[in-house]
Amino acid sequence: MQTMTAAEIRNCLANTSKGEAQRLTLPASPELVPWADLDFLGWRDAKAPGRAYLVTPLDATVVGLALSATVPPRSLMRSNMCQFCHTMHDAASIALFSARLAGAAGRAGNTAGTYACTDLACSLYIRDLRKPFLPQPQETLTAPERVARLRLKVAAFVTRVLDGSSGSRRAA
Ligand SMILES: [Zn+2]
Repeated sequence: MQTMTAAEIRNCLANTSKGEAQRLTLPASPELVPWADLDFLGWRDAKAPGRAYLVTPLDATVVGLALSATVPPRSLMRSNMCQFCHTMHDAASIALFSARLAGAAGRAGNTAGTYACTDLACSLYIRDLRKPFLPQPQETLTAPERVARLRLKVAAFVTRVLDGSSGSRRAA
C-alpha cells in the first residue's frame, strides 16, 4: 500500500459519520505501519475492542470501512478459515467482522459480514511475516497468487458494502 497520513485514514471511511471517523482510535502512528508489506491496513480499536477498521486501495482510490468484531460461540462458528487470506485459525484467532452497508441500506440496519483473522494481519500471514498458531494445510498457490487472491477477496467485500449504498439509491 501507499503510505497514508492519519488525516487520510480518517477521511476515507465510507460507512461512518464524520464524527465517528474523527473519534476512532488509529493504529500505531502511521510512520510505524509497515505499508510496503500491506495489501490493506486493518486494525482493532485499542479503546473499543469490538470495533475494527479496514482501509484498502480500490480502483484508483482508497476506501475504509468501520467494522464490528464478534467472536461467535464455538458451536455457531461457521468457519475457522479467514475468508480474506485463507489462513486456518484456532477459535481465538478468528472473528466475525460485520460492516454497516454504506448509505441508506446501512441506515436501515443492513450489514455484510465475513470471517477474518482477528488481528486483520492477513497481509503479514500470506508473506510469512506473522505465523498463525495452527499448522497450515499445504497451499497450491504461489506467493504472488496468494497476494492477488487476498486483494480480490478484500475488494469484493468492500464493494459489497459500498454497493449496498448504490443499490438502494437506484431503487429509491
Ligand atoms: Zn486473514
